[in-house]
Amino acid sequence: MQAPSVGGVMLPRGNGESIRLSRGASLTDFAEKINANPASLVAVMMNLGEMVTATQSVSDETLQLLADEMNYTVQIVSPEEEDRELLESFDIEFGEDEGDEEDLVVRPPVVTVMGHVDHGKTRLLDAIRKTNVIAGEAGGITQHIGAYQVATEVNDEERKITFIDTPGHEAFTAMRARGAKSTDIAILVVAANDGVMPQTVEALNHAKAADVPIVVAVNKIDVEGADPTKVRGQLTEYGLVAEEYGGDTMFVDISAKQGLHIDSLLEAVILTADASLDLRANPNQDAQGISIESRLDRGRGAVATVLVQRGTLRVGDTMVVGDAYGRVRAMLDDNGNNVAEAGPSTPVQVLGLTNVPGAGDNFLVVEEDRTARQIAEKRAARERNAAFAKRTRRVSLEDLDKVLKAGEVQQLNLIIKGDASGSVEALESSLLQLDVGEEVDIRVLHRGVGAVTESDIDLAMGSDAIVIGFNVRAAGRAQQMAEREGVDVRYYSVIYQAIEEIEAALKGMLKPEFEEVELGTAEIREVFKSSKLGNIAGVLIRSGEVRRNTKARLVRDGKVVAENLTIEGLRRFKDDVTEIREGFEGGINLGNFNDIKVDDVIATYEMREKPRA
Ligand code: GDP
Repeated sequence: MQAPSVGGVMLPRGNGESIRLSRGASLTDFAEKINANPASLVAVMMNLGEMVTATQSVSDETLQLLADEMNYTVQIVSPEEEDRELLESFDIEFGEDEGDEEDLVVRPPVVTVMGHVDHGKTRLLDAIRKTNVIAGEAGGITQHIGAYQVATEVNDEERKITFIDTPGHEAFTAMRARGAKSTDIAILVVAANDGVMPQTVEALNHAKAADVPIVVAVNKIDVEGADPTKVRGQLTEYGLVAEEYGGDTMFVDISAKQGLHIDSLLEAVILTADASLDLRANPNQDAQGISIESRLDRGRGAVATVLVQRGTLRVGDTMVVGDAYGRVRAMLDDNGNNVAEAGPSTPVQVLGLTNVPGAGDNFLVVEEDRTARQIAEKRAARERNAAFAKRTRRVSLEDLDKVLKAGEVQQLNLIIKGDASGSVEALESSLLQLDVGEEVDIRVLHRGVGAVTESDIDLAMGSDAIVIGFNVRAAGRAQQMAEREGVDVRYYSVIYQAIEEIEAALKGMLKPEFEEVELGTAEIREVFKSSKLGNIAGVLIRSGEVRRNTKARLVRDGKVVAENLTIEGLRRFKDDVTEIREGFEGGINLGNFNDIKVDDVIATYEMREKPRA
């Protein structure tokens, strides 16, 4: 086979060698790897039916296609891999404890509560917190920071447990999707009066996929008709066999409402951890962990809750969290108290970051501010590239004509910015669940915590997206830019309102439905022959009005004999008119349709857009 040549210039065709490109790379990046001129790759893509510019980020498929054509094997490096390489280039290893066995000490388990909606997850998290807050001064105001720690006594020993208190497996899944492991044990809440439900199964599948042991909390045992035994039976089918039946899953019957057996549940968590996990970490190293929740606080700036997984985090440390960085100015625990340090499995709220990280972003402490900044900047650049890659509209000639012909798929692109990662995720998942028929797709191109920025508007411009600001506003010149560029930025403070409006917008985007509306009928009284115009109908308007240029059909003896005619000429006496109303006479010319007879009825109609329900 011949090497592809463009304009007579031979391209450096490969021999199947492998090249590595990061996700969202451009043709220029590709060209650099194979020593080619970017413009020639643009031409190659054009020959393949895709219009892309040299510097634009392209999708994985495009990179693949180009590599096939040029006879290279492309290896697209995932963001996780790339991040590991990035940290390695700074001589940092993330995710492993430093030192030897003897450096490791036992750390508390980190627990997520999952289960079907309304089975009592929130209530349980409240109940646990109330009965058992560590060192919470009496009457102290507890703070919701996204996680909290409690203590329980097991075999005369005080043991701590950390709860992530964003209930629901959405958060769990979101974090896992980003390669972050935040949870050691899952409590699966099942209401004893309701039994195993779809989300129960979903939750337990998520926990299993993540290889996280499960403790089952059979809740609402105070309710009439509660049947804890049935729940045990049902869960057996999913491989969760209760200890009392010879299995190895602990089931605890509780009432979150009445605070019944909460202690036993906590004990079960500790026993499960001791039996199946080896939870130890090195507290004497630079801290590493994961961000759980973050938001922008008007007075305090970026506020992020992080879970320390190894090492000890201290005020004054320099840290990077996702693409945010900064020196820890202050730390607060879940009681709102200032703390100076936080060891493994401790959640703390951190102040002092430059911007707001995402939920599930990893964090690490580094020696130098400069290193932190560089890592954060590299990550931010990568995020931007990835976002641009996603928005890339592939203009493939093949697809284009398919889509045009079918005219079926329309897509609403969204960019969601909000004040907290939890609300952004909640909004995103509700929007994605909107069901407005198959003709429209919702796609969230980018989501994040913080103000609407110029880079959001940039992204929106390139992809015809709508920007949603949830409890945030535009920062700096973003608003002017949006106005100048005609980008629709909408602000909301109530989730359902956002959902309602988007739903309405989607309905507007749906292909309009038309219905036929009858305008008027005309009875033919006489037929005149004109040498110039053919047959002219002398009519009496029986109902409504007949307008020129409207659609018409011809009805004879109650049957439609001709469709899709047009009122081409309309006259009263000698004058051309635009309409004739009921009760008046006139002349109608149906263009070159001449098959008209006395007593035929000309019925005119138009198609009107039907408002959607
Ligand atoms: P979630 O959707 O799983 O977070 O469920 P919630 O915690 O919001 O609880 C749903 C409803 O069940 C609320 O009205 C709770 O008050 C109620 N509930 C939760 N636990 C119990 C319980 O142990 N007994 C009774 N009777 N009601 C409960």
